[in-house]
Amino acid sequence: MTEASTSAARVLVAGTGPAGMIAALVFAQAGFEVVLAGPPVSTDDDRTTALMAPALDYLDTLGVLEALREASAPLRTMRIVDGTARLLRSPVVTFHASEIDEQQFGLNFPNRALNAALEQVVVAQAGIAWRKCIVEHWLPREDEVVAQLSDGSEVQAKLAVAADGRTSPAREAAGISVVSHAHRQSALVLSFSHSRDHAFTSTEFHTETGPFTQVPLPGRRSSLVWVVRPGSAEELNALDDTSLSKIVEDRMQSILGRVTVDGGRQIYPLSTAVPTRFAANRIMLVGEAAHVFPPIGAQGLNLGIKDVQQAVDAASRNPHDPGAAGSLVSYDAARRPDIMARTGAVSLLNLSLLSDMLPSQIARTAGLSLLGAVSPLRALFMREGLRPGSGFAQIFETLRPDALLSRRAAVSRK
Ligand SMILES: Cc1cc2nc3c(=O)[nH]c(=O)nc-3n(C[C@H](O)[C@H](O)[C@H](O)COP(=O)(O)OP(=O)(O)OC[C@H]3O[C@@H](n4cnc5c(N)ncnc54)[C@H](O)[C@@H]3O)c2cc1C
Repeated sequence: MTEASTSAARVLVAGTGPAGMIAALVFAQAGFEVVLAGPPVSTDDDRTTALMAPALDYLDTLGVLEALREASAPLRTMRIVDGTARLLRSPVVTFHASEIDEQQFGLNFPNRALNAALEQVVVAQAGIAWRKCIVEHWLPREDEVVAQLSDGSEVQAKLAVAADGRTSPAREAAGISVVSHAHRQSALVLSFSHSRDHAFTSTEFHTETGPFTQVPLPGRRSSLVWVVRPGSAEELNALDDTSLSKIVEDRMQSILGRVTVDGGRQIYPLSTAVPTRFAANRIMLVGEAAHVFPPIGAQGLNLGIKDVQQAVDAASRNPHDPGAAGSLVSYDAARRPDIMARTGAVSLLNLSLLSDMLPSQIARTAGLSLLGAVSPLRALFMREGLRPGSGFAQIFETLRPDALLSRRAAVSRK
């Protein structure tokens, strides 16, 4: 993060979801004058979020992680189980963080805890003026962006960071179009307690309608994201706690023993959306304003945190005019490969689960079988998943001539 000078420009951050609050913190800590526009923080989100090591390291530098530790559970093992009734089924594939010398892949915590921790740090951070209302009208101009707020006031800024969610009015005002697709899938989200220890293992059952993913919480508790057809989500949601607990336990093949679901349940309709650009007209897109895809492999906010990192990097190169064309072009170029690759990978995996076509079943089964059987490949996959580029870097490291020579010398000494 580059330190901007004290006379650095004003930046308007729109949206008070996790991406917006993180953006406000990061820009203020980089020395920008930040106006944060968005409603009071949501307290009715029953989801949990799994963040991987790089995102957690970043939250730690912002002073957010400490307040989250008590509510969080480490993810030490991740397991994929083929829960389909298809002819071709994959073997169980298990990833242990210890195989790549990590203690854990990441942490899982309730969104309420994340939002409360972020709110606490945002309120205490100097340099952030939080207007608890929404942006009603955007007027992007050549030398500044003007936002008219619902409290009747107006904010002028050199740069706006749009963290205003999947329907992003700021994105529309920037003239950025979106390619989007609504899936015939919904995620039923709930938490539950269980009679056996989870041993900090997350299990993703692949089913014909999408993944059924259990993620550990502290104690004998876990969260569940169950992707089903929209009609089935409504039917499951209408069940009483005892009936739903039994169905969840059966789906989990009783690996966590007896299941008792909590009262709060929510349904999220799934979609994919990718903007044609990630910045234009003094507006940079971050979080779900920049990418929406199904909740497979805990990618969304992990990617959102990288957006914020690269937004502040691009802006800090020109602290007096962070919304100038050069900053927007470098932000767009920095984010494009990562966002396109992650969106593509998640969509492909989702499609391969839903497809009854034999070729896609063979490809998925063969891929998972290979991963299960070949430990260097599994390690590469895990490293790449955790820190993109590091898995391949490790291979190139072992192929460097001096590394090869010293290995050959060690072998000949034996
Ligand atoms: C079921 C499910 C499970 C998930 N699990 C994970 C996970 O384990 N790990 C992970 O990394 N990701 C996960 N995700 C993705 C993650 O939840 C999202 O990436 C993240 O919540 C997006 O945050 P955001 O701040 O971009 O958007 P939002 O949380 O939608 O926030 C948008 C904000 O903008 C505000 N707003 C809207 N319009 C305006 C306006 N005009 N002016 C000002 N403010 C405005 C809204 O009020 C809101 O505060 C999951 C998603 C789902 C659906």
